[in-house]
Amino acid sequence: MTDKSIEERIDRLQAGGIIDLHFDLPMDLYEKRERKNVLETEFLSELEAGNIGVVGVAIYIEDRYLPEIGLRVALDQIARLYAEAHACPRFAICKSYHEIQKARDADKIALLITMEGAEPLGTDLNLLRAFYELGVRSIGLTHARRNAAGNGGVFAATGSSRVWSRRSRAHQPGWFQ
Ligand SMILES: [Zn+2]
Repeated sequence: MTDKSIEERIDRLQAGGIIDLHFDLPMDLYEKRERKNVLETEFLSELEAGNIGVVGVAIYIEDRYLPEIGLRVALDQIARLYAEAHACPRFAICKSYHEIQKARDADKIALLITMEGAEPLGTDLNLLRAFYELGVRSIGLTHARRNAAGNGGVFAATGSSRVWSRRSRAHQPGWFQ
């Protein structure tokens, strides 16, 4: 395969815009909640420069908010995302394939809400429905911590991460208490 044909294939694949399914945008919007138009002034130009068409924006709760106010911070992250997307017509929060198509046809950047670590749910699966209604369409059960859904990875002192064996841990007594 020639370089030219590889380039052409890449161009075809990216013609509709690049899909990036992991970006901790809501966390940043939450931390900057005292400011306005953060999405437009801090992120739009880079997303446009990268030809990003669809972004999975991940709710992630930092250690300092857990466990007491993890749920509240998660809801607030979603609230900030809606407020910021509403303020900038270049973005659309999408809950379905059809909405993504509509957004892309209008040359908008589609935001798909995801959750990185199920900590906001705690042990209450009823909350799944509430987050679904708010637009969450994908959940990674764990990230760097243990939670009620399973075990996570661990950040080593070197900054690298190591994923524990979920299967072996899951067989230890008391794991799912
Ligand atoms: Zn993340």
